[in-house]
Amino acid sequence: MLGSGAIMVMDHTTDIPRAALTLTRFYAHESCGKCTPCREGGTWLERILSRIVDGKGTDADLDQLFEVGESICPGAFPHASSSKLGLAATPFPYRMNTICFVGPSAYAPIHSALTLFRDEFESRVTKRHRIPVTSSGATS
Ligand code: SF4
Repeated sequence: MLGSGAIMVMDHTTDIPRAALTLTRFYAHESCGKCTPCREGGTWLERILSRIVDGKGTDADLDQLFEVGESICPGAFPHASSSKLGLAATPFPYRMNTICFVGPSAYAPIHSALTLFRDEFESRVTKRHRIPVTSSGATS
């Protein structure tokens, strides 16, 4: 997405979850607060993603990012194609529950990053239901 005309160049050394957080934080801050999905959703996205970037997230947080995003933009979300992942591009425009594009713009970097670089997020989170079992079979 070109947004307002800015282009960010990233290479293989870019921390994708952190880059997504930087963009989401910007849009969450820019929310005027008029509509709930943008005002609350942007803040939720920022908080969840901050938790993941700080190494305190779980894989439930990854699902919740999509759930919050769906409350801002229901249905298929536009994204780029990826030959690596076998994904065809989903074209614009967004379907959105907000008055303007600030709300969807807070979700766009997260959706794109999670779709195209999910492994970078999964390596940062704790799996749910992973209960350590001792040699005696007891959980600790
Ligand atoms: S989507 Fe636009 S109008 Fe709605 S709260 Fe966000 S900035 Fe304000």
